[in-house]
Amino acid sequence: MTHRVLVTDKVALIGLGPLVDDDAFEIVSVDDSATAEFTAALETAEGLIVRSGTQVTRNLISRAGQLKTIGRAGVGVDNVDLDAATERGIAVFNAPGGNTTAAAELTIALLISVARRIPAAEASLRRGEWDRSAFKGVELRGKTLGLIGAGRIGGEVATRCQAFGMDVVVYDPYLAEERAEELGVELVGFDEVAARGDFISIHVPLTDETRGIVEEETLGRMKSTAFVVNASRGGVVDEDALANALHDGVIAGAALDVYETEPLAADSPLRAAPNLVLTPHLGASTAEAQVGVATEVAAKIRTLILTGDRSEAVNVGDLA
Ligand code: NAD
Repeated sequence: MTHRVLVTDKVALIGLGPLVDDDAFEIVSVDDSATAEFTAALETAEGLIVRSGTQVTRNLISRAGQLKTIGRAGVGVDNVDLDAATERGIAVFNAPGGNTTAAAELTIALLISVARRIPAAEASLRRGEWDRSAFKGVELRGKTLGLIGAGRIGGEVATRCQAFGMDVVVYDPYLAEERAEELGVELVGFDEVAARGDFISIHVPLTDETRGIVEEETLGRMKSTAFVVNASRGGVVDEDALANALHDGVIAGAALDVYETEPLAADSPLRAAPNLVLTPHLGASTAEAQVGVATEVAAKIRTLILTGDRSEAVNVGDLA
């Protein structure tokens, strides 16, 4: 018997080795989930692999009569109706490790971009200017990195920043002391990270606890020379408060890869804020990460369909 797995959102097929190399599986690849071809394939699929483009709604799930598992080639499962999947006994997997390096490297790129004002200098040069004095930056060496969240990505950012000669202080109430020691970072309270960080980088999931964790009051506690970087999830930084803080010189600069609403609204106050580097959610956008997350999720889907093992499902606790 062949197990059919429907793949959409242009998931990197080259990463689907665990399924492609196994004769027990047939891959049906339909790039656009808004098509009739997708709807037809959905009826017989046992597995569905998406990125963030497809909203896996209750309605979509109800049309997938054979579905046993959904894989999100990436970290966040915000686009999957977990309750609807769980009610049907469908195991939902994500790929939390596949894009760690990509997100950590983008964070470093943003940190240096804002510290050295690279995007603004580049834009100036292209306008025909040659203004060296306007773009004096600051060095990372000898500075303190304040991390909010030091899991997979935060940990990798810490290691890279240490290589630049930075000290690292961390606020992460769930991080074991042993892990902090292993990383060579100092665990401190939230206010201390805000007060001590020359660069403050956020690497937390979006939860009730973290929503708006960096808001007006937090920004006010930071050094006026501090830079804030967020390549985690939109919503953890209060965007209006950040735009105001940049206009008022409360902090020196910021860089964002993620936003409360994506795509970023044309009239967002962030677009006009000074000393701000903006990228359109590129954290996981490397060739390697796209393959990595596809492989991670393909392996989990294969195991689920062949053995029923759902121990790594994000909804494992709720599945009957
Ligand atoms: P992770 O689960 O490995 O680490 C998250 C860390 O945050 C954990 O150590 C946890 O203890 C900590 N944490 C949780 N609640 C906290 C709180 N209230 N205060 C402080 N710390 C808290 O996750 P990760 O793989 O490192 O990913 C981090 C974030 O980056 C996630 O939100 C993820 O979705 C996002 N991400 C973004 C991109 C991108 O494209 N920009 C790519 C990959 C991941």
